Amino acid sequence: MRIVTIQPHGFCGGVVRAIRIVERALADENTIKPIYMLGNIVHNKHVVRVFQEKGIIVLDGLSRDVMLEQIEEGTIIITAHGASDKIKSRAREKGLNIIDATCACVEKTHALVKEKLYQGYAVYYYGKKNHPETEGVLGISPAIILVTGADDIKALPAYAGKAVLTNQTTMSYNEVRRLHEKMRLKIPQLELVDEVCDATRRRQEAVIAQKGEIDLLIVVGDPLSNNTRMLEETAEKNGIKAIQIEDESDLDKYDFSGYETIGVTAGASTPETIIDNVIASLKAR
Ligand code: SF4
Repeated sequence: MRIVTIQPHGFCGGVVRAIRIVERALADENTIKPIYMLGNIVHNKHVVRVFQEKGIIVLDGLSRDVMLEQIEEGTIIITAHGASDKIKSRAREKGLNIIDATCACVEKTHALVKEKLYQGYAVYYYGKKNHPETEGVLGISPAIILVTGADDIKALPAYAGKAVLTNQTTMSYNEVRRLHEKMRLKIPQLELVDEVCDATRRRQEAVIAQKGEIDLLIVVGDPLSNNTRMLEETAEKNGIKAIQIEDESDLDKYDFSGYETIGVTAGASTPETIIDNVIASLKAR
């Protein structure tokens, strides 16, 4: 069995930055305690567990505004996925110290959405329902229309005014284009501002480039990680058989004996040590 490690894979700049911000907060004795994380800093349980072991209280599973109301003192960390201004103002109102680890790419999307709303555009946002990044963008204004996929288009009323479609940074760039084409049949003036981040795009392009070269793609990453799921989806939409695993312990669930060449990639929130362990375990089979 030949193993091909697909490049680029794993941690992106936004994830590295978010982790460094949290490490600095932990190391700084002036950081007001307790330190809460409003959701998972990045979607990877291994990364989050390390911070929990160092004393950070991670709140998860509820919307940001509900989680925020559970905090009475200390510091809150806004994760790489960002949060709306409403959440930040409420945190300030409650007297909480804010450490903001929002990725610059997500901040760029927030700025774009605000600008388009100000210019009188109808704003359509393609994203995953209940994902923290989507929640943060939708928190900008109730006027933003969430589109979670082509199935939602049927329910959209036709609109003749100026309109823009933008998206969660970790969606499939091909899907963004396809969705835009379909939506334009109902919304003829719909402009597209593709906000798929460079890290996500380059990882998807690298997977597509493996078409015909590998028999199976293993995508390593947390099930909650959208960019990880998109790598698997991108592979399948391009005719590459793919599976998603969280770490090397998941490999035992599969029989790899029929595959000659296996590609390995990983979501932007997967630590390199986990990828190395997966590759070592595959080689040992
Ligand atoms: S995947 Fe993209 S948007 Fe998300 S943290 Fe990385 S660079 Fe930022």
